[in-house]
Amino acid sequence: MTTDLKNKTRAELADLASSAGRKPYLADYLFTFIHQKNETNLDKITPLPKSFREELIGRGSFISALSLTQTQSDPDGTMKFLFSLPDGHGIEAVRLTDSNRITLCISTQAGCRMGCRFCATGQLHFQRNLTAAEIVDQVYQIESACGRANNLVYMGMGEPLDNFDEVVRSLDILHDPKGRRLGMRHITLSTCGITEPIRKLAALRFHPRLAVSLHSADDETRCQLMPMARKESLGRLLEALRYYQDQTGRRITFEYCMIDGINDTPQQASRLLLLLGDLQANINLIELNPFPGCPYLPSPPSRIRKFASRLEKAGMETVIRFKRGRSISAACGQLGAEQLGKQPS
Ligand code: SAH
Ligand code: SF4
Repeated sequence: MTTDLKNKTRAELADLASSAGRKPYLADYLFTFIHQKNETNLDKITPLPKSFREELIGRGSFISALSLTQTQSDPDGTMKFLFSLPDGHGIEAVRLTDSNRITLCISTQAGCRMGCRFCATGQLHFQRNLTAAEIVDQVYQIESACGRANNLVYMGMGEPLDNFDEVVRSLDILHDPKGRRLGMRHITLSTCGITEPIRKLAALRFHPRLAVSLHSADDETRCQLMPMARKESLGRLLEALRYYQDQTGRRITFEYCMIDGINDTPQQASRLLLLLGDLQANINLIELNPFPGCPYLPSPPSRIRKFASRLEKAGMETVIRFKRGRSISAACGQLGAEQLGKQPS
């Protein structure tokens, strides 16, 4: 049986070393070479005894690497990276620069099962979950090519909480002091709002910032936009979020895609304020990014500004997100748009 060592947390590598009759601290060398020095050749990790390296290789252990197949740049500085997985599926990651902040937006699945009607990824056939190794390697490869980033957002293709175990393992790996050392305050996980894993996330010993894609404050409109909402009412979602906030003390960000005539009325803004009531929250309003076949239109900018000022007047911290990376289909919800025309129906 083959084992991808990049896919193991440091604790798991220590168990692996112990079970091979080796000192557990050897796992630290292994982990640091893989996650700090980006080494993919096991035989080059010379602080490990040669006999141990040979034993690992003999047992089918290896260190995986994604293959970067294409890089595209938008005039606004946004870059999009296309990776191909060993089984041929394609995933995308984005690098955004904003004065002195560099943010990487990474994928957690090839495709997405949630089927949101306003999202290009949601229209792709679901292929599979990514492994933790495939999630963290997006960071390593982009940083090797372009330098270090300060922020990481799990907002690329896929629903992170639908791939809970691998996503949690990737967080554990990325924030490990012997690896990439990325602080949890610099990591945001964006979810469409699946409640059971939100509660599980609250119970972890580390907590990323949480962003929740809300898009409507009434169940009927939300179900129309997001088929997954039929199983997760807003009542249940808010209960889980209150629990997350109680356990972690973290403020929650809500993402709200502004869709013409669907969720951008003054009534919707009032309902939103009512719904979020006592939560410590802030809201990002995102102008809908179109893609071929998208059944919706973006709200006009004047309506977005009015919606924002209603929220602000009520004391809600609100930011309007401007379009980024559209010329290369790298904006929110456009990932996978170029694959859309190519997949079998
Ligand atoms: N599955 C997760 C994370 C990936 S989607 C989630 O849904 O939160 C990342 C963000 O892009 C989400 O807030 C999503 O609602 C938003 N998004 C999806 N399609 C979009 C579109 N066409 N225009 C603007 N934002 C979009
Ligand atoms: Fe999946 Fe998020 Fe797109 Fe919905 S918005 S289909 S959950 S990636």
